[in-house]
Amino acid sequence: MNYDDLANLIFPDVVDSSVYEEKYPKRNLKEGAMVTRFAPSPTGFVHMGSLYTSFADIRLARQTGGVVYLRIEDTDQKREVEDGITGIINDFNNLKIYFDEGPTQGGGYGPYIQSERKDIYQSFAKKLLKEGKAYPCFATEEELKEIREIQEKKKSRIGYYGRWAKYRDLPVEEAIAKIKEGTPYIIRLKSPGKFENKIVLDDCIKGKIEMPENDMDIVIIKSDGLPTYHFAHAVDDHLMHTTHVIRGDEWVSSYPIHKQLFEVLGFEVPKYAHIAPLTIKEGNTIRKLSKRKDKESAISFYHKLGVPNEVINLYIATVNNSNFEEWYVEHPDKTIDDYEFTFDKMPVGGSLFDLEKLQSISKIYFSKLTAVDIYNRTLEYAKQYDMEFYDLIKDDKDYLVALLNIERNVERPRMDIGSYSDVKEQFWYMYDELFNKVEDPYKEVSYPYDVSFIKDYFINVYREEDTEEDWFNKVKEYAKDKGFAINRKEYKENPSNFLGNIADFCSIIRVMLTTSNTSPNMYDLLKIYGKDKLLKRVDLFLDSINK
Ligand code: GLU
Repeated sequence: MNYDDLANLIFPDVVDSSVYEEKYPKRNLKEGAMVTRFAPSPTGFVHMGSLYTSFADIRLARQTGGVVYLRIEDTDQKREVEDGITGIINDFNNLKIYFDEGPTQGGGYGPYIQSERKDIYQSFAKKLLKEGKAYPCFATEEELKEIREIQEKKKSRIGYYGRWAKYRDLPVEEAIAKIKEGTPYIIRLKSPGKFENKIVLDDCIKGKIEMPENDMDIVIIKSDGLPTYHFAHAVDDHLMHTTHVIRGDEWVSSYPIHKQLFEVLGFEVPKYAHIAPLTIKEGNTIRKLSKRKDKESAISFYHKLGVPNEVINLYIATVNNSNFEEWYVEHPDKTIDDYEFTFDKMPVGGSLFDLEKLQSISKIYFSKLTAVDIYNRTLEYAKQYDMEFYDLIKDDKDYLVALLNIERNVERPRMDIGSYSDVKEQFWYMYDELFNKVEDPYKEVSYPYDVSFIKDYFINVYREEDTEEDWFNKVKEYAKDKGFAINRKEYKENPSNFLGNIADFCSIIRVMLTTSNTSPNMYDLLKIYGKDKLLKRVDLFLDSINK
């Protein structure tokens, strides 16, 4: 009896691996084109970390005229989440992120869901069995535990390797007999490596890293017939002709296993780029951004807030390549697609995830949009997340567009909107329906003097038709008449001669309309809001503060 008998007993109906080699020929791409893949397990949603990795996959493939594909890694059926695959696919669609090949769009190298590739993995496992490079292992849980305990006691390296690998050298006849008896087993690699030997990972991002050669007889096919991550990685990335494996750096330590698997299988080893994780500060420690713990990790968090996908992309691009941000500022008319991303500009250690930075990128982004564009997008956003605001804005486009146009088409536009939800936050006071809902809107407001003249100002002085210049001249004149200094120097010299200065007078108007001391241009706000409504608001204001 020989290895062939063993292989045929274990995988009687599996075709020869050469069938797959022929089925998936080398891709016809130009020199230097990168083939990359994003390979999530089916967790059900896309999070910041996955976006970060897939961004690199996509940019590098597109830049080089290559191919980027999506592969779902669902061989760990214990971890699978219900709807885990559709969740990921939907999220990518919503983000308008498209792969060239994948479970929904297909492609010449599928299936792109690992659980549908069982026969393929088994055919390569069969090949290794035939060559004596893999073997069935019958070790039970108890046996493995026992080995570990002895290793711990003897202070030996823990694991299933070399002389500890109990079934590694089991004669083929005995293995066949055990299988025929129905003894459960898994399939392990018969590692040809020596721990004393050193290998080098020449990582595209991290540079050269020296590591001991793998000598562990790792599991390649589990008892459910599915492959482990390691084995599926080697088989898939070979057959799908991945040139660059871009993945999280938690996989660096598995590189010796992967290199060895590729070599044992007779495959060319691809290039690796290990991406440092996004991190977050928690007290004094810095830890990996967690898709379970951190709300800002979920993409849905930004959608609810109304942060546009483009901003998320810009943020990811900023973290991804250290000089992207500077370039983008210098080339305001260009897009991410015009920038050439390179591995050497990617961070080697973790990158701190910075929500404030994302918000400031967003504000710059919004400052470049037209008011009509913001209106349309806000309407769409509100329809999904804020029906109250949707109802208020849907039939009065001009009103909100006018508000959004305040200080927009100028050299230094306002930077106060960073999300669609900020639009309401910025202008709520311009909608009486929202204003009237606020309980005691002026509760923080008080003056050391009677401000009732403000009503007189609106009735007798304020005119919507005035130009900004006329308006302000009249304001000054009126304020002076009421005892305010209109000249800063004058006021400084003798503050007690005045009620306040011109800024204080304007502040009364501003607070009356907006409840706040800062706002977009007053002249525009007053004009857009309209005199009739101003007269009502002034009554509300005076009633409230004179209470
Ligand atoms: N399925 C692996 C993960 O989610 C992918 C690693 C890889 O890209 O090879 O971590």
